[in-house]
Amino acid sequence: MNAFSFYNPVKLIFGKGQLQAAKKELPKFGKKVLLVYGGGSIKKNGLYDEVIQMLSEADLEVFELSGVEPNPRISTARKGIEICKKEGIEMILAVGGGSVIDCTKLIACGAKYDGDAWDFVSRKAQPKEALPFGTVLTIAATGSEMNAGSVITNEETQEKYGWGSPLSFPQFSILDPSYTLSVPENHTVYGIVDMMSHIFEQYFNDATNTPVQDRMCEGVLKAVIETAPKLMEDLQSYEHRETILFAGTMALNKFLEMGYRGDWGSHNIEHAVSAVYDIPHAGGLAILFPQWMRHNVKVNPGRFAQMAVRVFDVDATGKSETDIAYEGIDRLVAFWTSLGAPTRLDYYDIDDSKIDVMVEKAMVYGEFGNFAKLKDEDVKEILQASL
Ligand code: NAP
Ligand code: FE
Repeated sequence: MNAFSFYNPVKLIFGKGQLQAAKKELPKFGKKVLLVYGGGSIKKNGLYDEVIQMLSEADLEVFELSGVEPNPRISTARKGIEICKKEGIEMILAVGGGSVIDCTKLIACGAKYDGDAWDFVSRKAQPKEALPFGTVLTIAATGSEMNAGSVITNEETQEKYGWGSPLSFPQFSILDPSYTLSVPENHTVYGIVDMMSHIFEQYFNDATNTPVQDRMCEGVLKAVIETAPKLMEDLQSYEHRETILFAGTMALNKFLEMGYRGDWGSHNIEHAVSAVYDIPHAGGLAILFPQWMRHNVKVNPGRFAQMAVRVFDVDATGKSETDIAYEGIDRLVAFWTSLGAPTRLDYYDIDDSKIDVMVEKAMVYGEFGNFAKLKDEDVKEILQASL
């Protein structure tokens, strides 16, 4: 395995009724809190009222930023930063999904920065200071609740990039599976695809001799594959929501990536697609990741075959590694399709007219991918195969 150092300071608070823990956590940072949330799902399911009640019991002065969009925009983060600076905000509470949390990460760092927060996303500057923030997660998907990553869209320039800093870890994250019971069917599927994709990104990596990490990845994938169909049958199942919520966090809190350097190429291509077309992140991944896999079986057929056998129960008897590998990818596509995920870009009315624009956006930092180095012609082929 690769040499590594591991750091994850997020206090994870998991289970029914745990929102109350925020009453102890938040007052450590001061009095003035900015509550950040999305387009209104928390008002519909009653969580907003519970949070306001909790904040009032904690005797905090509450300011609000609502309307964070899926694929959060720099303009919204700028609004939040302005509120923080103007009102002397001391801490932030993000209540929502990956989009709300990612936006909050940029607000927290931007609030302590004199320049424009896009500088962090475009890697022109690194945060030196940040406001502390906590999260209340409402959807199982990104892992943003327990990592330092954030993905932000610049809607004017049609750019979408990931960035992160040791200062963009949440101080704490509260995960109560009951808050995810209201996630609609399509976003439940997207979340499952996203967390599985995060594991694939790490599973395909640049290291050798990683049997512990491999088994951890395969174990989380197996649990998701066993649970997801049951959850789709019964979206109100607390038990299955709990399993999927925990899986999403474990998939991207970097525990699985110790000793690996994950590939992350499919995420990079997806960000280029959703920068131009503003489609759901995991809708894009469901389409692109299998094509990335097919394109890269040749890099290490044994790795794909291992996944096919151990995760997708492909019978290897008498078959070549390459055949086993392709069978595993077919089973993955069949599984995602059975949940209701899309398989072609056409689903989002995306045709070949902007392929070169997307390739250019994906290549902005040059060749990428730690398992398979992709050049522009590779990205173009993957996109074309996804149409
Ligand atoms: P999301 O964009 O935060 O939310 C998707 C939708 O689900 C929103 O319309 C939201 O509505 C709704 N929703 C959330 N919780 C709900 C609930 N309990 N009940 C009903 N509806 C609910 O989804 P996400 O997949 O968590 O985040 C996607 C973003 O994260 C993308 O921008 C992606 O690029 C990024 N991402 C980040 C990381 C990372 O590590 N930081 C990793 C992968 C992806 P409301 O707006 O009304 O709440
Ligand atoms: Fe993702």
